[in-house]
Amino acid sequence: MLWSGWGDPAKARELPEAVRTLLHDLLGVRAPAEPAATLSSVRLAPSRLPGSALDALGEITGPAHVGTGHEARVRHARGKSTPDLLRMRAGDGAHAPDAVVAPATHDEVAEVLRVCAEARIAVVPFGGGTSVVGALTPSGDGFTAVVALDLGRMDRLVAVDPESMIATFEPGVRAPEAERLLAGHGLTLGHFPQSFEYATLGGFAAARSSGQASAGYGRFDDMVAGLTLATPAGTLELGRAPKSAAGPDLRQLVLGSEGAFGVITSLRLRVRKAPAEKAYEGWRFASFAEGSAALRTLAQQGPLPTVLRLSDETETMIGLAKPDAIGGGDSGCLVIAGYEGTDVRARAEAAGEVLAGLGGVPLGPEPGRAWAHGRFSAPYLRDSLLAAGATVETLETAGFWANLPRLYDAVRLSLLGSLGSPLVMCHISHVYETGASLYFTVVTAQHGDPVEQWERAKEEVNAAIVEAGGTISHHHGVGRDHRDAYAREIGPLGVDILRAVKDRLDPAGIMNPGALIA
Ligand SMILES: Cc1cc2nc3c(=O)[nH]c(=O)nc-3n(C[C@H](O)[C@H](O)[C@H](O)COP(=O)(O)OP(=O)(O)OC[C@H]3O[C@@H](n4cnc5c(N)ncnc54)[C@H](O)[C@@H]3O)c2cc1C
Repeated sequence: MLWSGWGDPAKARELPEAVRTLLHDLLGVRAPAEPAATLSSVRLAPSRLPGSALDALGEITGPAHVGTGHEARVRHARGKSTPDLLRMRAGDGAHAPDAVVAPATHDEVAEVLRVCAEARIAVVPFGGGTSVVGALTPSGDGFTAVVALDLGRMDRLVAVDPESMIATFEPGVRAPEAERLLAGHGLTLGHFPQSFEYATLGGFAAARSSGQASAGYGRFDDMVAGLTLATPAGTLELGRAPKSAAGPDLRQLVLGSEGAFGVITSLRLRVRKAPAEKAYEGWRFASFAEGSAALRTLAQQGPLPTVLRLSDETETMIGLAKPDAIGGGDSGCLVIAGYEGTDVRARAEAAGEVLAGLGGVPLGPEPGRAWAHGRFSAPYLRDSLLAAGATVETLETAGFWANLPRLYDAVRLSLLGSLGSPLVMCHISHVYETGASLYFTVVTAQHGDPVEQWERAKEEVNAAIVEAGGTISHHHGVGRDHRDAYAREIGPLGVDILRAVKDRLDPAGIMNPGALIA
């Protein structure tokens, strides 16, 4: 993973000429950004990890798995939001941990937490490091030191139960590896977020991730049949039946806890048969409102495709839904409908009848093919845009169908008001019977300090989302960037409940301090 950007540097993308023209003519981008810092020039404070703690941690994991070197600290300094990347490009390593510790088992994790609690060392669980909500950047104030707990060595598929259709994984397995391991059993998780190439199963659970095929396979939290959580106060084993009336479901307290309560060390995940066939196709609707109504009908009355997404007019025009064809988009609003499993033709025809009946025009398989081919490539484009002098960032929310138009308008108006004349694009990519998520992409020219420019806009848009009745996150999580808005969403009593849970599981307050709650 590129330390100051996204993904495999070999897959870096040149900006298409159409995009350069767009940046210049539409957004007023005139000069490229300062060149990015080199890894060795990133500014770090000296490690504060005491020698006694270094020895104690090394005894648990083996000394080779406790790193205080420059590169390891830089690579665990931040997540992958645009402000994260802008700061790393500027050589700012202010939030780098003092050390990186990589345990290999649940017992080692538990021991690391015990040692860190005793020495008042903050611990930040680190999966794929793809958080986009500031979940990996604690302030070390009030702590002896900060360690990143890298889960990359806990990367095994432990067991497959084909009768119950449950696979048991360690948390550090990256999504492509999970799919590869399951493919050997003819199975799939069906979880394909845009961060698929790097994110881990533990991170998906800890941040309540949702993948591009959520209509067919469900959100990640729907897949978690059981889990193990190591906390400074002991171990929680949760989930012993598919459903239970035995009190509140404590799994739900761990899902989305973002390392603030403990470390997920094992996941028992519902799996599905690997699809025999896949087919993706495009449809056009005259407007976002008409397209939304069609998605709502499919979500409420079926038949529901496996992948279902609708771009608004701007996103369709720019062609962002098909990153290989950016700049060559169409008019109206593009729907991508995908079918995975068996009988895909029959299912596509049945859903197609509904879409056509609601004003959809079939565009055939080509837009679906282009979307499927480019589905993981947009993040690479972000690096090129940042280098060219544009800021590009995404944000998301969700709401009930009846409130979705208000939410859509509120977010757009907020971004247009705070950023001058940005490009604001939106799509719906996760649908439910009662509502859907809205996912926005914003592109604007960098003015002055681009981090400050974005963070001011982000604060305003967070307030607008809460005010308009949406949730502050459908799938990115809370971290530090959404913490204040989340507190407004759940109210002071809600925050007190989370605080009480944290105090019980993590009395020394070492677990990812400042994430989720202040
Ligand atoms: C380009 C890009 C595209 C993205 N697309 C999507 C998308 O389509 N859908 C989506 O849902 N998200 C998306 N994300 C956000 C991100 O990938 C998800 O939040 C993902 O769940 C994070 O997984 P990770 O392994 O990288 O976790 P990390 O970023 O390492 O950690 C995320 C949080 O979980 C905690 N954590 C990690 N592992 C554990 C563990 N084992 N136990 C306890 N806490 C843990 C961390 O402390 C942190 O608070 C995207 C991000 C990027 C950069």
